[in-house]
Amino acid sequence: MSTAVERKDFEATKKMRGVMGKYFTELCQGPEQGRKTAWCTSVGPAELLRALGYNVYFPENHGAMLGATRMATDLIPLANARGFSPDICSYLTSDIGSYLKGESPIQKMKLPGPPQADILVFNTNQCRDVKDWFQFYAREWNVPCVGVHTPRAIGDVDDAIVDSVARQIQELVEPLEDVAGTKLDYDRLQEVVALSKKCTDLWKAVLDAAAAVPSPITFFDSTIQMGPAVVLRGDQSAIDYYEVLVAELQQRVANGEGAVAGERLRIYWEGMPVWGKLKDLSTQFLELQSCVVASTYCNSWIFDDLDPDDPFRSMARAYTGIFICRSEDYKERYIEQMVDRYKVDGIIYHDCKTCPNNSNSRYQMPQRLQERLDKPYLIINGDLNDLRLYSEEQSRTNIEAFVEQLSGA
Ligand code: SF4
Repeated sequence: MSTAVERKDFEATKKMRGVMGKYFTELCQGPEQGRKTAWCTSVGPAELLRALGYNVYFPENHGAMLGATRMATDLIPLANARGFSPDICSYLTSDIGSYLKGESPIQKMKLPGPPQADILVFNTNQCRDVKDWFQFYAREWNVPCVGVHTPRAIGDVDDAIVDSVARQIQELVEPLEDVAGTKLDYDRLQEVVALSKKCTDLWKAVLDAAAAVPSPITFFDSTIQMGPAVVLRGDQSAIDYYEVLVAELQQRVANGEGAVAGERLRIYWEGMPVWGKLKDLSTQFLELQSCVVASTYCNSWIFDDLDPDDPFRSMARAYTGIFICRSEDYKERYIEQMVDRYKVDGIIYHDCKTCPNNSNSRYQMPQRLQERLDKPYLIINGDLNDLRLYSEEQSRTNIEAFVEQLSGA
């Protein structure tokens, strides 16, 4: 089925360009203004780094930019030639390829490109790749690489785990103070955690709006809208932005205005985005009058546990509670709740070739959930950044057939 496609942009997006532009400008100008730069993994201790006055840079965000601009596929072989396998994280290989070639989407903003790190700070809560990725740069620039080792496949986030992770975050303070040349101000840390919590609450409100029928926002919109939540948590500018976006979403809900005209079906996206094909996929779902209403990916930046009264332990609890480092049982319960909350008709699993950590279709989860929830599923084979691993034709056909199946269900 095909219909006239009408993509409804958000007014707020104009403001977002300003917010993100300012972030990248300050980030790139930071070194010449005497600010130190810390590279941080997506769910690393960003609040601590900000409280210490660092310029905080997130290479995974850069990886996503390389994917979305389709620069990644040509850059990956450069990292492969330096010994990084084509089978490992394509954020890592495209980012290192970008460094080796000296080409970055940040340069298209007329900025010099990602700032060199004075220190790199990882958390293995998501995967081991981030540590190997950061260690490459630590060797390259002869700077420290420190981090947190989080257990994987966690069932309950119990006190023993929180104690261990909180202690590891506290142990980062000294090396971070040494490089920053300043002492940690505990009040400032509490302030940053409070800002981060506000940001996360607003981001949650953005995603929760999609529970409305029709949904005022799609997963594809959210992958773009999440920018400030990823790179500016702990900063007032992200809060200001999401207040505007939430108000716009509430207005859409009040008007009964859906992001997909004539929304017929509601789908859940499990796994990584295919960054280089967001627009094409979004258009296909619009044409099929189907809304991808929710995803594990975008919800991974909701950190309910952050608490300014107990910054270290609450950071530990928040960073350790994320979906990716949890047990299969936890993940299944989580998806079950999401399917219920967002009134989902079917689930798409992206089996992402170079990110086994964020692919949940490989050990029978789709079949188990289908049995329990009675919701059809589709597995798409692809990748987050390496478009050589994604067959567009096959995916289009499979999605069309899946929607057909859901329509008859
Ligand atoms: S979770 Fe996946 S996409 Fe993210 S850094 Fe690790 S391997 Fe790469």
